[in-house]
Amino acid sequence: MAKAGETVLEIDLLALEHNYRFLKSRLDPKTKFLGVVKAFAYGSDSVAIAKKLEALGADYFAVAYVSEGVTLREAGIKTRILVLHPLPVSFDNLVAYNLEPNIYSPKILNNFLQVAKKKGLEQYPIHLKFNTGLNRLGFVESEIDALTAVLDNQDQIKVVSVFSHLAASEDLNEQEFTENQIETFEHLTKVLLPKLKHKPMLHLLNTSGVINYAKAQYDMVRCGIGLYGFGNEAAIDAQLKPTATLKTVISQIHIIDKGQSIGYNRAYKAEAAVVTATLPIGHADGIGRQYGNGNAHVTINGKKAPIVGNVCMDMIMINVTGIDCKEGDEVIVFGTSPTAEEFASGAKTISYEILTGISQRVTRVVV
Ligand code: PLP
Repeated sequence: MAKAGETVLEIDLLALEHNYRFLKSRLDPKTKFLGVVKAFAYGSDSVAIAKKLEALGADYFAVAYVSEGVTLREAGIKTRILVLHPLPVSFDNLVAYNLEPNIYSPKILNNFLQVAKKKGLEQYPIHLKFNTGLNRLGFVESEIDALTAVLDNQDQIKVVSVFSHLAASEDLNEQEFTENQIETFEHLTKVLLPKLKHKPMLHLLNTSGVINYAKAQYDMVRCGIGLYGFGNEAAIDAQLKPTATLKTVISQIHIIDKGQSIGYNRAYKAEAAVVTATLPIGHADGIGRQYGNGNAHVTINGKKAPIVGNVCMDMIMINVTGIDCKEGDEVIVFGTSPTAEEFASGAKTISYEILTGISQRVTRVVV
């Protein structure tokens, strides 16, 4: 349980299990499940989340960088780990910790092959990423012949999967674009697969892909946000449970007279007397200035209280006029109400950003 009286991010592993089972229920039982646990498992606790998912039977994990995979291995995680954005400077550690690189360009292929040769590796697993429209990382069709020529000529590395990433799977206005990405992936793999020595797994879908385009689940899906309780649409959010609850506590209550200002830059001026509460959480904890000045609210004793004035580094002030509360009372910044998505939307951002932005100063408590 969280210690009363400080700011904590509670991580609910039963909620995680519920979300995992929900996502699995949308899939063919044969489809493998990769849990995306990069960025501290979307700001929570990658080790606790990965341990639970490993126990539940997840087939793979993905992290962005090698250091994140090292953390999981050092905590005893045995499941295979795909590194989505491996940097060549980290290739030694990648191999030492049995992590599997995304190979997304001719340059990164050659870089990794040199390392594999130097280390005398045999059939080391790699994953090939293709660009089907996101235009972020990935090979394109015109590179296939050169790519397979390099792969044919060696035994150090082995392609275990071929994948791509959807740009707008959550946006049904972009359905035509997404269908096009799926067709492009289908085409690329038809051209590529006969040229590979082994049959790789194919994977394309993220959480919203699973929800909206389950027909393209291929051999595996890669889910992040859904595991943490969000599906990028209200009807799905209603069936998921947020895994993270950000809690804090009231440090001090003030009665502010009409005409007084609150906080830095005097950004809030009271037009009538108000009661405010000061909370020990600020932009150094991940609650950025965009949440200030009424753009987001928190929950105290079941009641909504907006943030007033500018967010400070270590504190925010909230308007608790008419709310029955006292110093020491618990405050929910986000969790079940408001959800991280609701909290984020007030500042025109998304659950992904607020979740991953909660700084490491905030104690994580697994419940
Ligand atoms: N696959 C890749 C390559 C990603 O970068 C991400 C997340 O950013 C995911 C899968 C998971 O996406 P989501 O959190 O929307 O499920």
